[in-house]
Amino acid sequence: MKYKNRVRSRIANLKDAKNPDLRRNVLCGTITPQQIAVMTSEEMASDELKEIRKAMTKEAIREHQMARTGGTQTDLFTCSKCRKKNCTYTQVQTRSSDEPMTTFVVCNECGNRWKFC
Ligand SMILES: [Zn+2]
Repeated sequence: MKYKNRVRSRIANLKDAKNPDLRRNVLCGTITPQQIAVMTSEEMASDELKEIRKAMTKEAIREHQMARTGGTQTDLFTCSKCRKKNCTYTQVQTRSSDEPMTTFVVCNECGNRWKFC
């Protein structure tokens, strides 16, 4: 089963219209069938695909960081320390799922943090 999938992915790579270099390299003998057998799909991917993949990874990292630092910028809250309305809030389910979410607010100006229920 595993072997079947590997073969299928290699054929798909060879047929890939976006990846003419790989096919050309194989046809010209630059890459041997033996080499293809040990190549990872990463190595077979065209430069364009690599770029897309890189961009996707970057996007995923950015989203992850947003989720971690706590997300959404808002002017709905006023900081009690500096009276500015430049805040970021995150909603967290602190207890059981049937209880309301707790909103954590961070002031982007002075770093003041507070909880809003
Ligand atoms: Zn503040």
